[in-house]
Amino acid sequence: MAREARTRVHNGILDAERLKHCFECGICTASCPVVELFPNHYNPRSLLQKTSLNIKRVLKENGLWLCAWCYRCYRRCPQRVRVPEVLVSVKDLATEQGHLRGFEEALGLIRREVPLPTVCCYVCFHPERGRVDKPPVFTALKRFATDHEHEEEVSPVPKAREKKIAVIGSGPAGLTAAHELIKKGYSVTVFESLPKPGGMLRIGLPEYRLPKSVLDAEIEHLKDQGMEIRTNLTVGRDVTINELLREGYKAIFIAVGAQNCRKLDVEGEELKGVVQALDLLRKVNLGHNIELGKKVAVIGGGNVAMDAARTALQLGAKDVNVFCMESQEEMPANPWEVREAEDSGVNMIFSVTPKRMLGKDGRVVATEFVSVELGELDESGMRCPVPIEGSGFTVELDAVILAIGAIPDLSLLPKDIEVAIGNTIVVDLDTLETSLAGVFAGGDVVSGPATVIEAVVAGKRAAVSIDRYLRGEDPTTGERI
Ligand SMILES: Cc1cc2nc3c(=O)[nH]c(=O)nc-3n(C[C@H](O)[C@H](O)[C@H](O)COP(=O)(O)OP(=O)(O)OC[C@H]3O[C@@H](n4cnc5c(N)ncnc54)[C@H](O)[C@@H]3O)c2cc1C
Repeated sequence: MAREARTRVHNGILDAERLKHCFECGICTASCPVVELFPNHYNPRSLLQKTSLNIKRVLKENGLWLCAWCYRCYRRCPQRVRVPEVLVSVKDLATEQGHLRGFEEALGLIRREVPLPTVCCYVCFHPERGRVDKPPVFTALKRFATDHEHEEEVSPVPKAREKKIAVIGSGPAGLTAAHELIKKGYSVTVFESLPKPGGMLRIGLPEYRLPKSVLDAEIEHLKDQGMEIRTNLTVGRDVTINELLREGYKAIFIAVGAQNCRKLDVEGEELKGVVQALDLLRKVNLGHNIELGKKVAVIGGGNVAMDAARTALQLGAKDVNVFCMESQEEMPANPWEVREAEDSGVNMIFSVTPKRMLGKDGRVVATEFVSVELGELDESGMRCPVPIEGSGFTVELDAVILAIGAIPDLSLLPKDIEVAIGNTIVVDLDTLETSLAGVFAGGDVVSGPATVIEAVVAGKRAAVSIDRYLRGEDPTTGERI
């Protein structure tokens, strides 16, 4: 598809047409994390219905700006309606004043409901909006960030309850749960294996997408409210979950994310110069010097591949190509990430997969690729690539970055905690309690790699369940047992 045509799809114009196929099943609403956070203010299903009836009125009256662009509604929509893009497609009908009012209202709501409000503005309320709404969105975003910075000093929340809670992992899920529980008067300690808190917000997202000063300011704000964060402490190695329980922690929330990289399983993967995207981004974010060379191939089609490709350019690579197994329409990366990567000078090559990596003196020098069609779904829900005979080609390169997914590291778990096939923790979907009483889990370690807003929702839900559990109430209903 030509670039202009693809842009049309990405701007939602074609999907607005697709709206006609919406049969109001409600799956988008049921799967929307923002609905959980702001139940009275946001409802994609009703917005969709009203959008098709009277776009002007909808835009004026509704908080369209609350969409987090996580695409969970799209991934679950039986009719494949790209809901976030439909919402943006009504942009032209708004007055500038109307936009600003909507966005500011949204910011006020976020601030009340989300513990990392500015971070969420950067990573959820994505600058794609800037393309659409410039300059009001950026102005409001900047003003919001500045206002937040100069907010009055907060004092610690009084510890009204004696019970201690341990949170393992300081990503958005862990920080949200800890914040909610502190507000309820508990003593909460967050254990983090890295030198600094923030999870993927700190070590995954590149600086150009989320300035670390913004993250630092928000974490300071949480600490000022009484959150204790113990860094450089790996649960499972320095202290075990059972030891924490014996030390008097009455409940534990496991929010360790998905830190391990998936392997490609092709010949030559162990050669020098073949690096994992998460390792690369982590090192760059922690200030290490990395030398990749001039010609870099990134393998993968998700957002992490886009971040890795743009980071490679920033590290001095001159020729960066992303090799993606899916077609242009099917690739999992968000459309604006792809467009921004292309605008920075990254090339995309679709419907290909690496066959093997070739080395010289232990270092990768080339990779053989083959074109593929996507076949049937396998048991993990992925479509298997089927190679097209005679389509092989070889690319010379200095480095290969693998960005083909992440899986949780569950080595910290005691035996009594049940694990699912995809190496995620099994929890009760309502309460997030694991198979070990008093131990809860949420975020990427349960869902697999997802989004910040979904991790925030998990953190909030876990805090409610933990509070009920510690009060001796039924974690699902809140009734006294
Ligand atoms: C490169 C990249 C870019 C992304 N961009 C976006 C984006 O733009 N928007 C968006 O919504 N989402 C984005 N995501 C996804 C998002 O960052 C994650 O979904 C989210 O951070 C998951 O939150 P979490 O709290 O579950 O886990 P994490 O953020 O992964 O945090 C887990 C924390 O637990 C710590 N930990 C792990 N094991 C232990 C242990 N044994 N003991 C103590 N601590 C431990 C880790 O060090 C880490 O700090 C991106 C992800 C990546 C990798």
